[in-house]
Amino acid sequence: MDNNFKKEITSRPGGENLMMCYSCGSCTATCPISEIDDSFNPRLLIKKSLLGYKEEVLNNDDLWKCIQCRRCVAHCPQDVKFADIMRVLRNMSIEDGYYDKELKEKVDKLDKTVYQYRLDIVANHLNNSKDMDESIEVMIDSGDQNG
Ligand code: SF4
Ligand code: SF4
Repeated sequence: MDNNFKKEITSRPGGENLMMCYSCGSCTATCPISEIDDSFNPRLLIKKSLLGYKEEVLNNDDLWKCIQCRRCVAHCPQDVKFADIMRVLRNMSIEDGYYDKELKEKVDKLDKTVYQYRLDIVANHLNNSKDMDESIEVMIDSGDQNG
């Protein structure tokens, strides 16, 4: 256990409000990743961070599952801003050499692909005046054929 862990987090931009968490669980209840993965639990990650389980928190694949949608931020009654804390934890994980390089590369690739899909759909909509739904359908169909 590392009693300084919470201070390390709160000293970084984005981690300042960690100690305001009162463990209500609204973040976990509204998180889309928790919905599809029972093991992903923002409330528990905060609890472990406050208790000083540094290695367990930083050496954890869950850090790379978050899609930064910020639903947890919108629903938090304490303004903890868990999505920002997640970014702090990711940086600390990289700095301390805990993260799984292969997993991070896969997540980066996934993020870039989703970003590109979104850009293409919006560009298609703007340039060709295509209905957004139609553009999404075309994109999904081409993805199916490529896969
Ligand atoms: S919603 Fe906010 S206060 Fe509640 S557990 Fe999550 S971070 Fe803590
Ligand atoms: S930002 Fe991350 S932790 Fe927060 S709700 Fe979205 S996926 Fe879950």
